[in-house]
Amino acid sequence: MLDKLTGIWAEFLDIVKKEVGSRIVDTWFKAITLNKWDSISKTVYLTPPNKFVKDWVCSNYKDLLSLHLGRLFNTQSINIEFVSSDVAQQTNDIVLANSPQPLSIEKKRRTSIANLSPIRGCINSNYTFDSFVIGPNNSLAHAAALAVADKIGQLYNPLFVYGGPGLGKTHLLHAIGNKLRETNGRAKVLYQSADRFVNEFIGAIRFDKLHQFKDKYKNIDVLLIDDIQFFSKKDQTQEAFFHIFNSLYESDKQIVFSSDTYPRDIEGLADRLKSRLESGLIVDVQKPTLETKIAILKRKAELSGEVLPDDIAYYTASVIDSNIRELEGALIRITAFANLTNRELTLELAQKVLNNVSRPSKTKLDFDDIAKIVCKSYGTTLKDLKSKSRSKNISLARQVTMFLMKDVLGASLREIGEFLKRKDHSTVLYSVDRIKEMCELEVEFDAKIKGMRSQLIN
Ligand code: ADP
Ligand code: MG
Repeated sequence: MLDKLTGIWAEFLDIVKKEVGSRIVDTWFKAITLNKWDSISKTVYLTPPNKFVKDWVCSNYKDLLSLHLGRLFNTQSINIEFVSSDVAQQTNDIVLANSPQPLSIEKKRRTSIANLSPIRGCINSNYTFDSFVIGPNNSLAHAAALAVADKIGQLYNPLFVYGGPGLGKTHLLHAIGNKLRETNGRAKVLYQSADRFVNEFIGAIRFDKLHQFKDKYKNIDVLLIDDIQFFSKKDQTQEAFFHIFNSLYESDKQIVFSSDTYPRDIEGLADRLKSRLESGLIVDVQKPTLETKIAILKRKAELSGEVLPDDIAYYTASVIDSNIRELEGALIRITAFANLTNRELTLELAQKVLNNVSRPSKTKLDFDDIAKIVCKSYGTTLKDLKSKSRSKNISLARQVTMFLMKDVLGASLREIGEFLKRKDHSTVLYSVDRIKEMCELEVEFDAKIKGMRSQLIN
């Protein structure tokens, strides 16, 4: 029995990983054990490694737990109890007596097909418009999603949101669902990831439930399909979906898609489906700017009851590349580390926690940033650096620039040469070596270079 519960927990981890990413799973869920299931009271008992994890998971991921464990245990109203491991041990007998006949995969599929009714499910209540930070990278997508939630089926139909991973597409789809929950209680909203749609469709064929499958989608007012690129090369699914789309569209039902690319660029998708996807409004989400990243970090911290000092927010936003999911993972690691080790949340601690995972890379810092800092320090201009001037001060500033470009950005001699208009790469090589040597020989000079380096990195 316990093995089966472990299996269910593993399956839960798998699902959650897809939804919130492996960092969150590693940090919060991996160390929890699923101890027992009481099928009469529909209660699942979880044992967290400590109180901190329990509190965090309760305040941040309760909905996620209810949603997916509810599905895995095949119930719509699941109770979740956290117990210490000794309690779990003592009560194990009862547990086993009451345990569900854990669902075999086949049975689970069958019931999930038969259980097609809870149309309002699957919406993650943390992903709201309120918790979505608007920046120049996503304002259009945000506005379009909001408009769609206000006037379903009337404005932009279908709405198609595309963009790279971790940039808020899924969040926006759920936000539409959440908003409708508040404002339009009767609207039947279904969020479905495309890969689940595919699995559901396959299950429907296997168990001869196509009829129910089609009925389920016929009765929806708002259909939110996430990651439609998963339909790629699934011809039969595409065919089935095409009809569902047409029937909803013709009855003015709202359809919203997300995808990692523009419809036309999704490979292995039938042309007629592509043209449907392109027939409404297409908006993109792009990488956030530094300011937006900082605002997101602050908002996320606030939502979990933490106050994030400005310097840490700035540091985290500048070292983590623009994937918001990773940004969130970094924040969680920092706050978890501080809480678990009972230490104050300081910049130093944040640097320590993030040091191993994130190195500044070219995407965050560029040649101009380096040139700017060097010019400030040596009282020169970018034009001086690129000029032929051999004045002592300018030459030194130029060499320092070359050194930092190599050292901080890992740029190639060619790239550095091109930027500073030096055709001969050996000049660059010579400069880098010279500065290295000067650092070794002169303490003060070394401190100056370190100062510039840390301004760049922090
Ligand atoms: P995608 O579906 O584009 O891969 P998600 O919607 O899953 O990305 O977003 C990844 C994480 O980043 C989620 O936790 C989400 O809440 C968060 N996120 C993304 N964009 C924003 C934003 N603008 N404001 C607040 N949180 C955001
Ligand atoms: Mg997504």
